[in-house]
Amino acid sequence: MSDWNKEFVNAGALWLHDGSAARPHALLTSGLHSDGFVNCTMVTQKPSLLRKILNEPDGLSPKLPIGADWVIGSALGAVTFAYAVAERLSCRAGFTEKDGDTMRLARFEIQPGQKVLVVEDVISTGGSTLKTLEGIKAATGGKATILPSIVCLVNRSGKDELDGKKIRALLTPAINTWKPEDCPLCKQGSEPVRPKSHWKQLTA
Ligand SMILES: [Zn+2]
Repeated sequence: MSDWNKEFVNAGALWLHDGSAARPHALLTSGLHSDGFVNCTMVTQKPSLLRKILNEPDGLSPKLPIGADWVIGSALGAVTFAYAVAERLSCRAGFTEKDGDTMRLARFEIQPGQKVLVVEDVISTGGSTLKTLEGIKAATGGKATILPSIVCLVNRSGKDELDGKKIRALLTPAINTWKPEDCPLCKQGSEPVRPKSHWKQLTA
């Protein structure tokens, strides 16, 4: 059995506050404060770790659907993850890319009737995944079959499904975010720090 939480923590991809006011907490780029931090890049940059996650029976292996012709993620975060999932499923990989306020499927031609699995590295609000679903529908004229599950490494959205599609995640950490003035950890005297530059302090 693999302790995926621990693997993510060791890789620098996940940190969760332990509740102690003596420990610092996360100051996010958005300016919000949080009791957790996810940086899947630290996992998706490791092909061998992705392969392990996708192949082990207590990893994502049992959560992968059969019959996909394409695996599509959103650029840039899910590009390598989509590629790894496609390798595992022996199908094609592609990605949607940012175009103004939308995600566009620009350089891949999905044929009518082909089955598409949508994947994400991390689902935070679900916004970019919904845009990816829209981008695939727009590019294929709704003629591709989008499979009924979305596979991701980390689901921190608190949602079970998006657009009627079940989210199947490796990890589902409970993470809260607050405006600085509402942050209960600040009120207890915990210090907010930038996670990437204070990783050692956070995880000490
Ligand atoms: Zn705070």
